[in-house]
Amino acid sequence: MLYKLENGWNKQKNRDEVMRFSEGYKIFLDMAKTERKFVTEGIRFAEANGFVNAEDEKDLVPGDRVYYVNRGKNLVLAVIGKEDIEKGINYVVSHVDSPRLDLKGNPLYEEFELAYMKTHYYGGIKKYQWTSIPLALHGVVILEDGKKVEITIGEKDSDPIFTIPDILPHLADKVQGDRKMRDVIKGEELQIIVGSIPADVTDPHLKDKVKYAILEILNRDYGIIEEDFISAELELVPAGKARDIGFDRSMVGSYGQDDRICGYTSMRAIIDIHEIPEKTAVCFLADKEEIGSTGSTGLTSDFLAYFTGDMIEKIKGNFNEMMLRRTLWNSQAMSSDVNAGIDPIFPSVHDAQNAAKIGYGVVVTKYTGARGKSGTNDADAEYVGKVRSILNAENVCWQIGELGKVDEGGGGTVAKFLAALGIRTIDIGPALLAMHAPFEVSSKLDIYETYRAYKAFYKRG
Ligand code: MN
Ligand code: MN
Repeated sequence: MLYKLENGWNKQKNRDEVMRFSEGYKIFLDMAKTERKFVTEGIRFAEANGFVNAEDEKDLVPGDRVYYVNRGKNLVLAVIGKEDIEKGINYVVSHVDSPRLDLKGNPLYEEFELAYMKTHYYGGIKKYQWTSIPLALHGVVILEDGKKVEITIGEKDSDPIFTIPDILPHLADKVQGDRKMRDVIKGEELQIIVGSIPADVTDPHLKDKVKYAILEILNRDYGIIEEDFISAELELVPAGKARDIGFDRSMVGSYGQDDRICGYTSMRAIIDIHEIPEKTAVCFLADKEEIGSTGSTGLTSDFLAYFTGDMIEKIKGNFNEMMLRRTLWNSQAMSSDVNAGIDPIFPSVHDAQNAAKIGYGVVVTKYTGARGKSGTNDADAEYVGKVRSILNAENVCWQIGELGKVDEGGGGTVAKFLAALGIRTIDIGPALLAMHAPFEVSSKLDIYETYRAYKAFYKRG
């Protein structure tokens, strides 16, 4: 009669498997610190497990394992099912971009004989958290001749790193002491220090010799000139590796777990499909979720329709608009993103009866919006019921979770964009502590149960 939740560690007896699963997750997090790197590593992982590029295939038959790449930042894996594709696809959709600091288009300057670079933050961050920590630089620079230069600095122990020096507490009182949280560090103050040795040039007209010396190094090592920063995507992310947390090693601490935790678990779930599924299974790893799913690699682009249409055409040998619309309207999805776990330091932001707890399994979220459910998908009760029975049938450890108290705040996911296409959609993913911080905390039990939930969906959805 009563709805009773139990700590997942008490229910899941296979603790060795839980712990082992997170080892692969941590390794992947360290290799995939940007959306581009997640896609590159994801392709490598998929190809090693029998997936081929769909664009090279003329037709598709049940059991085929294919992938689609969208501009190097958005990846789709699919396993073709036995059933007519127009009866619907099972999509698991997560995002592989994470909050970070992007270099501005003209970033480099010198002041007081110190060279700095200016940034523009990407996604929702508490800006003060990004100061006085080691930062690594990842990304690409496109030279004028079209050559792509890849840059990764700060992940090897022997690499230099970058940092935003915060003001010392001794002198912070007047300049910072009365600022509100969002302004403790202001957007324009998010600048990294990049050098301090002046160039060895005698030209009396050359000012900014430290800046010039940095450009000399970049030109020597990468062939870059200052104008090349304009055609670049260079991202600063926390340097360092994913680590175990706690005396009992029950948690993972890392940058980028929102939402690579769902990206990794859903990718593992589709790779681990060994029997041909009834419905075509799709693992969609989106970009740009953190800034509103915009752009051609975000979920509001037509890419979902593009690759779904391509699959229809290659399976059926013909295509029309109605086939695509019917397929989408008959489809169902797990919008796979993280939720917030109750934190005993700040319990007041949650309604404990409806909030997620880390270690209690994957979180099912009917709606994400707060303040009158604004802007949320609000999954149909019928579909929530179906998902619930799928999870129970496979003995997945799951819980419900709303993101915060009513009127407290709120968040959004890709769910509403999927639902707008007619895809029945629910939000489901693990809870984190310190979401969007440079170092986020997840439970190993939840990581494993999230993987099991996506597997269950591909099998029974
Ligand atoms: Mn997310
Ligand atoms: Mn997020």
